[in-house]
Amino acid sequence: MIRATIALLIASVPVAASADLKVFACEPEWAALASELGHVHVETFSATTAMQDPHYIQARPSLIAKVRQADLVICSGAELEIGWLPALLQKANNPAVMPGNPGYMEASRYVLRLGATANVDRAQGDIHPQGNPHIQTNPHNIAAVARALGDRMGALDPSNAAAYDTGLADFLGRWELAIDGWEARAKPLRGARSITHHKSWVYLEQWLGIEEAANLEAIPGLPPTATHLGRLTSKFREGGADFIIRSPYQDARPSEWLSERVGVTAIVLPLTVGGTEHAKDLFSLFDDIIDRLLKAKNHG
Ligand SMILES: [Zn+2]
Repeated sequence: MIRATIALLIASVPVAASADLKVFACEPEWAALASELGHVHVETFSATTAMQDPHYIQARPSLIAKVRQADLVICSGAELEIGWLPALLQKANNPAVMPGNPGYMEASRYVLRLGATANVDRAQGDIHPQGNPHIQTNPHNIAAVARALGDRMGALDPSNAAAYDTGLADFLGRWELAIDGWEARAKPLRGARSITHHKSWVYLEQWLGIEEAANLEAIPGLPPTATHLGRLTSKFREGGADFIIRSPYQDARPSEWLSERVGVTAIVLPLTVGGTEHAKDLFSLFDDIIDRLLKAKNHG
């Protein structure tokens, strides 16, 4: 009897510190976006940091526990997380966030995917068989995902749907203004030519009118080889590129090696929030990407 009374008391105590919607994001940009839209109503967690390659992480027990508690799992999709997310979802065994249910969302479904290849490349090791999954490098894609995410958050947590609507409208208002600013500042980058380590930047390049001249990886996912770097040295010795781009978690040696031989500036760009000291949120992420590109172009 006493035990039953205590159980009742515990059950009736409001859990003040707990957010209404627990969001598990595979990548930092989606955690940042959920926070922008949901503010105090959401608790976000990102499985990866900007210093990790989102293609390859371990399905650690701490991540399984986070998925088990989540109301919503949001990931880039397009097989970006195929090496670890299916195992996480299976081990967490949380029906609400299983693919096909409202608690599971693939951001890349809401944008036009670039670079879908024929299956023949997959056999050779291409890790982008469903099109390029690195969609967050174009802020218009972020806006498209924001609209879908705001709706989804409202559907999963109807008591706060009005707050999510307001959060979305407020975010989109500031975001569209910021995009205008970035596009104006980035005009000198139009027509620039890039060499990128991994094919991480195709959406950014399409947005800003940058031409991708080459990749250090001969096939997405295969590390740069001496043979391929040798070919690139011959190809770009007489010019033809403005910068060599890598992400913070990528090996610096191939881009520095090529940079020394062809005289093209090698730069690090933050691929997501937290990738550099300046990229603290989604807004400063794009501020920093454009700053770094302009600086490299002017020094070239
Ligand atoms: Zn990739």
